[in-house]
Amino acid sequence: MSRQEQIYDLLVLGAGPSGLTAAIYAARARLSVLVIEQMLSGGQIATTEKVENYPGFPEGIDGLELGQRLEEQARNFGAEMVLATVEKVNLSGAIKEVKTTEGSFRGRTLLIATGTRARPLGVPGEEELKGRGVSYCVTCDGSFFRDKSVMVVGGGDSALEEALVLTKFAARIYIVHRRNELRAVRILQERIQNNPKIEVIYNTVVQRINGRERVQGVTLHDVEMNRTWDVAVDGVFLYVGLIPNTDFLNGDLARNEQGYLITGEAMETSIAGVFAAGDIREKGLRQVVTAVADGAIAAISAVKYVDEHS
Ligand SMILES: Cc1cc2nc3c(=O)[nH]c(=O)nc-3n(C[C@H](O)[C@H](O)[C@H](O)COP(=O)(O)OP(=O)(O)OC[C@H]3O[C@@H](n4cnc5c(N)ncnc54)[C@H](O)[C@@H]3O)c2cc1C
Repeated sequence: MSRQEQIYDLLVLGAGPSGLTAAIYAARARLSVLVIEQMLSGGQIATTEKVENYPGFPEGIDGLELGQRLEEQARNFGAEMVLATVEKVNLSGAIKEVKTTEGSFRGRTLLIATGTRARPLGVPGEEELKGRGVSYCVTCDGSFFRDKSVMVVGGGDSALEEALVLTKFAARIYIVHRRNELRAVRILQERIQNNPKIEVIYNTVVQRINGRERVQGVTLHDVEMNRTWDVAVDGVFLYVGLIPNTDFLNGDLARNEQGYLITGEAMETSIAGVFAAGDIREKGLRQVVTAVADGAIAAISAVKYVDEHS
């Protein structure tokens, strides 16, 4: 039977830490599982150099490696994987249908674990210079800026972590933050303060990213002093927030104001048999450790649902 003909017990949308953990738990409980992923296993973690705060890895673990290990573990228990982008879902019947770039798939239960993506800053020059000095991923693009000047926009954990990674390549790193203090955890703030390559510019917003063929600089505005000035940089890395990846959903599922899916404690959404896990959920802490916990809970809920409905 082809994958398209089969009705899987569980379809998992997204192979980040939450989706893959759900696949491990569900496949180990002998559900038939298909994971649909558009890029590569590990999700957002695959784009970060080192995960330092995932328990059990005292030296930290490379994000890409963690993603690959999760995939291997899921496959070992029999989960299947397909490389495809989810375009649409039909959640109305007892069997859930998922339309992707590689055809349609069907499942008795569905787990939405598609995470988030970087929020654009929305300033002139950003769209035009994307991939030409404007980036959302230091792991992907940081090495292009060897001995150059770069700017990181944002004041949270991701912004500071990635600024620290950039110190391996760039000669000078400016962190621009719109408030008068950083949001990131204290240990990251201390590392930033102790790094001579990094300068933090507070109370300041980016007005425009400048350059013709490539980024040549940024126009900044100090909101306290009401002062506008230009800084010459070769690259701009944006870490100003996240948007949930829900484009393929219609309005069926309950969401909060920011578009995150609302679930109960068993990771159930507002439609029976449809679960959500990880960063896509309305939740207080978006980290690997909470994503994997959500995935495990969602998988056990799916097992229960399949048992009760077969
Ligand atoms: C730069 C950075 C550094 C971070 N550092 C840490 C850290 O040190 N420690 C930590 O605990 N957390 C860290 N995080 C947060 C952590 O990465 C997330 O909390 C975690 O990855 C969430 O897992 P997830 O499975 O919910 O979603 P994601 O990891 O976002 O995975 C979702 C997956 O779904 C796929 N997908 C999306 N839409 C579709 C579609 N339409 N069709 C098919 N596939 C789709 C995506 O390609 C992706 O692979 C970091 C995040 C970033 C951005």
